[in-house]
Amino acid sequence: MLDTHDLGRRPGSQRELSRTVPAPADLGIEVLGVPEGAPVELDLRLEAVMEGVLVTADVGAPLEGECVRCLEPLTDDVEVTFQELYLYDDGRDAASVEEDDEQVSLLDGDLLDLEAAVRDAIVLALPLQPLCSEDCPGLCVECGARLADDPEHHHDAPIDPRWSGLVGLADGEE
Ligand SMILES: [Zn+2]
Ligand SMILES: [Zn+2]
Repeated sequence: MLDTHDLGRRPGSQRELSRTVPAPADLGIEVLGVPEGAPVELDLRLEAVMEGVLVTADVGAPLEGECVRCLEPLTDDVEVTFQELYLYDDGRDAASVEEDDEQVSLLDGDLLDLEAAVRDAIVLALPLQPLCSEDCPGLCVECGARLADDPEHHHDAPIDPRWSGLVGLADGEE
């Protein structure tokens, strides 16, 4: 929640401010997200316009997740910029406004609630398939070993574990 009272309502008046807020729970997608309580940095520009307050926000936050190829934990960060118009709530019906345009929110008196917009912006910016590195080779299809740790690793032929003992014996006899 941000108080816009000292911005005033004169169109054209502007204010810039920076905030660091703890991340709420469940900020992200299944494989990648901002850990709860991690610092989310907001650089905000508030601008009074005729109908409300136009907010331009630069958002930065750390990410934790796992590589979809090799399942190793990974850390990253997200930087995203969004703009959202918050309308003065003078006698407006919130439901009708939301139906008209998803990028429009209502001010609660002088208070502006950024959480929904920040959440949407971060979630949209996340890669759906996070990788520990661009060319992560993933896991060996034969044994599940992580190929980045052991790139030379290969299997001559699939060995049925029930026969592996016999293979050893046969080699000994030759
Ligand atoms: Zn990986
Ligand atoms: Zn293998």
